[in-house]
Amino acid sequence: MEKLNNSIDRSWIDKWNQPFIISGPCSAESELQILETANRLNPSHVQVFRAGIWKPRTKPNTFEGVGQIGLEWLHKVKKNTGLMVATEIANAEHVKLAISFEIDVLWIGARSTASPFTIQEIADALEGENNKIILVKNPIHPDIELWIGALERLSDKGVRKLGVIHRGFYTYKNSKYRNQPNWNLLLNFRSLLPRIPIICDPSHICGNKEGILDITKKAYHFQCEGLMIESHCDPDHAWSDAQQQITPENLLEMLEELTCIKKCDQKSKRDLDSFRILIDELDENIITLLAERMNISKKLGVLKKYSDIAILQPSRWEDLLKKSINFGKSLGISEELLEGIFKMLHKESIKIQNKN
Ligand code: PEP
Ligand code: MN
Repeated sequence: MEKLNNSIDRSWIDKWNQPFIISGPCSAESELQILETANRLNPSHVQVFRAGIWKPRTKPNTFEGVGQIGLEWLHKVKKNTGLMVATEIANAEHVKLAISFEIDVLWIGARSTASPFTIQEIADALEGENNKIILVKNPIHPDIELWIGALERLSDKGVRKLGVIHRGFYTYKNSKYRNQPNWNLLLNFRSLLPRIPIICDPSHICGNKEGILDITKKAYHFQCEGLMIESHCDPDHAWSDAQQQITPENLLEMLEELTCIKKCDQKSKRDLDSFRILIDELDENIITLLAERMNISKKLGVLKKYSDIAILQPSRWEDLLKKSINFGKSLGISEELLEGIFKMLHKESIKIQNKN
């Protein structure tokens, strides 16, 4: 870990005023769409223009990217605007093609990071390519070791201009996010590998336009050094991720708001706010779990009525209370709090079951 941390070359990000901004459409669709979006992005705010050429879609028979021709359009953006350009690569062939079209930044998608074989293939293809910036998105599931393992595979092949992208994690639970952010995991990542630049991708966390500003502010509180935000010249008609893309002009407004926040910021307030964000996220998770629990109580009530079983089963309740108190105490929670919470939960559950 120490070796990886020390090998990191941060020059690509340190030379810019933060945050480092990567923006552009989810997918390249046509030369016109690419050039128009790039021209409308303000180069004094944006450092890298992104577009997906090969798209890892969840379902087959959907748009899976324009392929190689999109690299020509990206190359044109680079020549016309002076912006660096970025695309997602997922195998050795993609790496070879992206290098031949002088793509500056290559990112590895969340599905690829989850596969050590894929990462190894990409790392092997990158051997000796020490000028490219390689950004590794978090794996789909919150496995910090797998994420770090991907960085180690790349670093072992001499890749030094590394960064990571926090794009949130798949969750089976109901959630207001498309991919659940995990700020606590990010704090752990930072303490293990303090030199690796962290970029936040609010677009894939939110899955909608409305939440992007909020996640952008949170990313700032957690000291992310950059942002990757999807923008499109005509977001409502985008061929992929239409719900979450914003116009280049909306992006500019958002970045201006962020600059205002930064101007009136104090370090102590920033630290306080980041703890509050962690607490708020946990409270949301607790409430989501409570709703799930109440839903099961409702089903249980129906079953008990149907099977002619009494709603209140004292021995089951005593067992549950004892088990929960013991477990909670092993995690350092006071017995008084556990008892109070579980008595209230049980009372509510009985009420719900009796409603049937
Ligand atoms: C993307 O950036 O367009 C993308 C497919 O991202 P992810 O790998 O985070 O799903
Ligand atoms: Mn996308």
